[in-house]
Amino acid sequence: MRRTLRAAMVTGAVLVALVGAFYVFRTPLLLKAIELVGAPPLAAQEAVVLGEEEIWADDFYTVERLDAQTYAISEPRYFRDVYSYLIVGDREALLIDSGSPLRDISTIVAQLTEKPVSVIATHLHFDHVGNHTRFEKVLMPDLADLRARTRDSKFVPETLEHLGKVEGYAVPGWDVGGWWSVDRELDLGGRVLTLLATPGHTPDSISIWDRSRHRLFMGDYAGDGEIYAFLPNSSLGAYLETTERLLSDLPPETFLFAAHGGADSKAAPGVGVQNLVDLRDGLRAMRDGRLAGSGFWPRAYPLNGNTHVLADWAGPGGSSWDFD
Ligand SMILES: [Zn+2]
Repeated sequence: MRRTLRAAMVTGAVLVALVGAFYVFRTPLLLKAIELVGAPPLAAQEAVVLGEEEIWADDFYTVERLDAQTYAISEPRYFRDVYSYLIVGDREALLIDSGSPLRDISTIVAQLTEKPVSVIATHLHFDHVGNHTRFEKVLMPDLADLRARTRDSKFVPETLEHLGKVEGYAVPGWDVGGWWSVDRELDLGGRVLTLLATPGHTPDSISIWDRSRHRLFMGDYAGDGEIYAFLPNSSLGAYLETTERLLSDLPPETFLFAAHGGADSKAAPGVGVQNLVDLRDGLRAMRDGRLAGSGFWPRAYPLNGNTHVLADWAGPGGSSWDFD
């Protein structure tokens, strides 16, 4: 009897230790698991169904002309289906995100404009800075943390900000060609863009606002499908604060372009402002313990019929509400 009790206590202690270890190391464990599984192979070009406005630019990239001076460049054969956006002004052009490191997006950009091109990333994940070093001028958002970590004009993301290890990509570094202040305008020549700080997915995430055309290019901040709020540095508190601010600042007719298509996306992906309303309401309900999640980790919290927030355990007072 005593032996059975002792065995049960030992088993219990081991279980508690295992659960504790999982909790502490959940993020590196998940990243390692993703790394071990590996990325699926590229889809066959013939198997990709394009949208009406999308055309192949080569055997990897597609281009969709959103208007005479705006292009969406996508990677539909890659399972992450990354979208980068090229904004062309009368004098110069801006590439928002430089895509995954799989191929060289600069050759496609060169086919679309002869103007000098600057590049800026919505955030530092590997599938958005993959071609930064191929462009002459890399702009960075003027955020104190990023400035403080720049040495002799060179910036190198941290491993957990870049996350390229999960697909075998080394962390790149680049020379910073200019700092773009938050809420400041950049004039490309008849085309004025504003940089907005939109932390949540990562602390230094930004969005580029084309106010006159009612468009916001928001990277991985929101969109249909899954919103990643569980990654290293993600913060539900920052997400909620950003969403409330955007809802008060953006005109209701604004269209928000995302940086990943869904599996069946056949056009540049995006959502309307209603998606932000759903996100704000969902985040408030998560914070107050009124919205149930499903799954073990990350937990999926439904916002509407087709969008979930993937988050850490998100109950009231949970650590993932902290930021700053
Ligand atoms: Zn991301």
